[in-house]
Amino acid sequence: MKNRRLLLSRLPALGLALAWLAGASLVIPHAFAKEDTKEEEAKKTEDKPAPKKKKKVAEEEPAKKKPAATEPAKEKPKAEPTPEKPKPKADPAPEKKLDEAPKDVSGSAKANGKMEPSSEFEETGAEVKRKDNGKVTGGTSSKDMAGWELVHYDGRDYVTGGSLQRFYRFETHTVDGSSAWFRSSVLIMKANIGSQDLLINNIKFVLSYPVLEMDGKVLFSRLDLCKLIDPVLRPSYIGTAEDFSTVIIDPGHGGHDSGAKGVYGYEKDFTLKLAFQLKADLEKRGLKVVMTRSTDEFITLGGRVEIANKVPHSIYVSLHFNSAGSSATGIETYAFSPQGASSEYGASSVDSVSFQGNHRDSENIALATAIHASVISHFKLVDRGVKRARWYVLKGLQRPGILFEGGFVTSPTDCRLIAADNFRVELAHTIGDAISNYKRALKPQR
Ligand SMILES: [Zn+2]
Repeated sequence: MKNRRLLLSRLPALGLALAWLAGASLVIPHAFAKEDTKEEEAKKTEDKPAPKKKKKVAEEEPAKKKPAATEPAKEKPKAEPTPEKPKPKADPAPEKKLDEAPKDVSGSAKANGKMEPSSEFEETGAEVKRKDNGKVTGGTSSKDMAGWELVHYDGRDYVTGGSLQRFYRFETHTVDGSSAWFRSSVLIMKANIGSQDLLINNIKFVLSYPVLEMDGKVLFSRLDLCKLIDPVLRPSYIGTAEDFSTVIIDPGHGGHDSGAKGVYGYEKDFTLKLAFQLKADLEKRGLKVVMTRSTDEFITLGGRVEIANKVPHSIYVSLHFNSAGSSATGIETYAFSPQGASSEYGASSVDSVSFQGNHRDSENIALATAIHASVISHFKLVDRGVKRARWYVLKGLQRPGILFEGGFVTSPTDCRLIAADNFRVELAHTIGDAISNYKRALKPQR
């Protein structure tokens, strides 16, 4: 376990308690007893109680089907860059069964002219609904050279839950009804078959593609493995990661662009106040801070990106507050959509083009995870998830960056907090903790 690295943090004490185990910085909270997890998840997801009986997932059965080519040449992306793959700096698995996560080749099919995803997967920003409830048939199985069991289905590569369990050394992998569970002493991961929601230690992530089930095997898209699960579970393996000394804080909106009109004020004013509070917190930690604006002025989105791209060794945090109907509440954190993945917002819902922001996919999701997990663990706020979108400010960014939505100014309960100085100071401190934690998590183990 000594090379195991997780991206978590929940409580400092628990982070320390885990350090002996993983030697790791943790960015996702640990701290959930199994029973607690079940209770909390029942609350959060409003699942019906899980059936008592657990069924072991079939995982070892060799594929009967004719193996598909592991890295079909026709699927190679034509455009640069090659999607990142985790680069182990040390042997991650004593068992040596699986040495590296399979390389992502998703997003390439469309580059070759095939429309993907198919209409069955049509992404509209809402939960993807499948009439078969995520249970599929007819995929072709194969194993790659590192031993990952791959399933090619509907033009897309998937990895099996069994492979995932072995690679990340989860002690158990079980399926209860439509819930797939993975458990180890430090991690509990739960996926819902037919859904894009994934819980890792009770922190919600929205996958790019729904989890499927075929012949009793749970399937995760290879893109989600490479672009979400792996960098979140093993941030120290992110090949592109580099240390940073400066945080670019981008207070959303400003000037004539007031942002959302809230119950107790404008978004642009709250983002600026939070930005100053975060600046103070980060400077206490020895980090340098550059703000894209420090007064109530209008800066174009492009102007913000330009400021960020001029600062070497930096990360970028865009601060926003949300708006919707008065009942919408909670926190969401965005990382830029990977190539070939859907976007909750932005011009194109699925795009085969790689943008500047995609060069930092793994760092982006790790930073989003660190911040989201820290805030969700600290406050009793609704977890709307770590999400993806092609926000303009993230698209052209050359630095790792995220967009944080710290609650709804249109919600009387959220906005009462957002308007309160002491809440924002605490929120800033929590984000500061997350940034320190992210910095530690990227460092090679030991
Ligand atoms: Zn905004």
